[in-house]
Amino acid sequence: MQTDSLSRAQQYSAVTRRQFLKAGLVVLLPQSAIASVDSNPDVVIVGAGAAGIAAAHSLIKDNRKVAILEGRGRVGGRAHTETTTFNAPFDVGAHWLHQGRRNPYNSIAQNFGFDVEPVVENLRDNYRLFATDGEAGENELKKIFKIYDELSKAIGRSSNAGKDIPVSVATEQIVGRWSDTAKFVLGPWDMGKDLKDISTVDWWKSTEVAVDYVCRQGYGAVVARYADDLNISLNTTVKGIDWSGKDILVDTTNGTLRTKAVIVTVSTGVLASDAIKFTPQLPLDKQESFHKISMGMYDHIALQFSEDIFGMGRDGYLMFEIGNDGKGFATLTNASDTGIAYCDVGGDWARELSSRPVDEKIDYALGEMERMLGSSVRRTFVTGTATDWRNDKWSLGSYASADPGAYKLRWTLRQPVADRIFFAGEACHRTHWATVDGAHRSGQGTAKFVSRKLG
Ligand SMILES: Cc1cc2nc3c(=O)[nH]c(=O)nc-3n(C[C@H](O)[C@H](O)[C@H](O)COP(=O)(O)OP(=O)(O)OC[C@H]3O[C@@H](n4cnc5c(N)ncnc54)[C@H](O)[C@@H]3O)c2cc1C
Repeated sequence: MQTDSLSRAQQYSAVTRRQFLKAGLVVLLPQSAIASVDSNPDVVIVGAGAAGIAAAHSLIKDNRKVAILEGRGRVGGRAHTETTTFNAPFDVGAHWLHQGRRNPYNSIAQNFGFDVEPVVENLRDNYRLFATDGEAGENELKKIFKIYDELSKAIGRSSNAGKDIPVSVATEQIVGRWSDTAKFVLGPWDMGKDLKDISTVDWWKSTEVAVDYVCRQGYGAVVARYADDLNISLNTTVKGIDWSGKDILVDTTNGTLRTKAVIVTVSTGVLASDAIKFTPQLPLDKQESFHKISMGMYDHIALQFSEDIFGMGRDGYLMFEIGNDGKGFATLTNASDTGIAYCDVGGDWARELSSRPVDEKIDYALGEMERMLGSSVRRTFVTGTATDWRNDKWSLGSYASADPGAYKLRWTLRQPVADRIFFAGEACHRTHWATVDGAHRSGQGTAKFVSRKLG
């Protein structure tokens, strides 16, 4: 079913994994301190993830000069592909191109010659589901789809009645066999949060999509390629933004810059941690928005197998019955024929696992696989790894969503401060939050707004 860009209020029946200012910039320290800063840029962009990259392209197209400052030694932020662990592309962060055909990164990828394709036309044909007592059939799978629809409707009723409450409360009447598994799909697997931590209104107003695309070479590889022609200062951490004077002073590990406008694209996790000191402090409601549009936890435990032990070809989904503690994972199998299975954990379980050694996480995922598929799992296992976005200091979580009762703070988060400090990034998009395309659109939109302000 191809139903791109419909809000949940319009479309709630697909169980998918999110499928489911113009002034010269003055370098106060020696110019060489920030090697790649263009001379006399108009805007400073903090962060070179999807939002920062899109903002930079947009401003440059408008003939604005920009300085893009990135703390890491690489671009892409939470969209990053590495090829060393598996000798094949592995997306450490984002993997699925959500909203299918209309995702701007779909055409960007194709223009650069990447291979982009839909995951599956009909998800129901590409799932294997296991109950605690063995493999479950098509009927059990249909029950999960049906319960998911019931969950969606219950959230919609609550949201439409103006009740911004925890999704767990709005859906507490929905119980019985497979309900916890369906709740896992909607919460930890999709939002990186347990239902108690998700706002009904926020969820209902977000965009859900039906067909995800994947890029054979990795989503992160496309984002990095799109940044190739940009002049980005890597290893340049922004420590403070002083907006007390006429100009803004951006204090970095490589020197201090002076400008009239800043676009901040770092995650709400980073903003809430006070890693960037604003002088004077930002308004209290703005600070509150950093904390209450809070980061979810979502991680990949990635396992590579030498054979297709799942029997679904490329890009299948393996699910198993999960209890009300959310302790489990769902798996994208044989991603783009690489033999890599993305066993994805989310919510409180991902938080708990994050501090454990990588080997322990791998063993946990292998054990669950073995329970379902038998000895072929350990026999064909090649190697594995696990991500830990919670402890990644440049992100401090996977992606953001509103806490119950905090939906209104989405608006606050998006607002500029004093028409000089602007915010962009996945959490700032109205409906496509928690996605790369949402970050891209937010960066682009904010840049256009800033460009108009520059006059
Ligand atoms: C495990 C995981 C799976 C995901 N799966 C998907 C998916 O399948 N599909 C999808 O669309 N989305 C997915 N997402 C979400 C997606 O990755 C993000 O929404 C998106 O990449 C965010 O882009 P951004 O530009 O807003 O933020 P970021 O990518 O976080 O960019 C912000 C940048 O700012 C930098 N930075 C931070 N602090 C500083 C500082 N003080 N100074 C300078 N630079 C700084 C960071 O290093 C980073 O590069 C996933 C995320 C995770 C973690």
